[in-house]
Amino acid sequence: MTTVANKRPMRQSARSRPHWSYSQLNQYMRCPLQYFFERIIKLPRPFVPSGLLFGSAIHEALAEYHSQLRDRIAVRPENIREQFLLTWQTNEEEQPVRFAKNEARDDCLDRGVALLDKYLDEPPPQQIVGIEEEMVVPLFNSRGSLLDAPLIAVLDLLCREDDGLAVVEFKTSKRKYGEAELEMALQATCYINAVQERYGEPVSLNYVVLVKTKTPQVQRLTTDRTPSDLGRLGDTVRAVQRAIQAKAFYPVENPMNCSGCPYRGPRKEWQGDSGFQSLHEENREGERC
Ligand code: SF4
Repeated sequence: MTTVANKRPMRQSARSRPHWSYSQLNQYMRCPLQYFFERIIKLPRPFVPSGLLFGSAIHEALAEYHSQLRDRIAVRPENIREQFLLTWQTNEEEQPVRFAKNEARDDCLDRGVALLDKYLDEPPPQQIVGIEEEMVVPLFNSRGSLLDAPLIAVLDLLCREDDGLAVVEFKTSKRKYGEAELEMALQATCYINAVQERYGEPVSLNYVVLVKTKTPQVQRLTTDRTPSDLGRLGDTVRAVQRAIQAKAFYPVENPMNCSGCPYRGPRKEWQGDSGFQSLHEENREGERC
């Protein structure tokens, strides 16, 4: 998630050069038209979905908690809760928030606090190596050829374990994750690839899912990747690059993609190639005004 994202801002130097990131790849692969709206013509988002705001505030609070653990500062749960509420308030002042049907702001805040409390009750992570660490690493395809642009990854948490390093990635979700989802998760492949390139050690990825059920739950799942999975990541990136260069931007309409999409209005105006042209011109007009 970005600005109202669950990641802290990357250093400008890394952003300003061509690069790939998990969120960029994922957005193109989920809906190329959404990618076009957000990253090609930079259509402003008219609102931020509440789930994104929620995830952002939770991540800021967790980063604060993990920083206190790493720095051996006595953790006070009220400070962690305050960080969550402060991030929420700051972000909601920046742009309008859209809540789901039957969802109320105060319920979201109560649920966030309850989830944080639940996580803080669990044994804390040990041997913290990095928090929100940014990595810029080369990408290779399955034949070992270097790709044009590097991969940027910002990890929630990196810890040392007996048999190597473990990326810990936090998710907020209305439901528990399935094992099969993790086996194929592009994010896990990107992050494991980044840490292996950077540290040259065995890496696993632990997902910590904060489940937004009535009674808050914390689900923990672990996954890893083979060298051929990592080569396949390079092949995938190259294929996405070719598709973008060929201007293959089309809608992928399904309830999971579209229900919280801020571009639902422009989508209705989109009419294939001619629609792209008018949206491009509209956007340029806007920039001039
Ligand atoms: S509304 Fe759906 S199809 Fe349209 S851009 Fe958004 S995600 Fe894609």
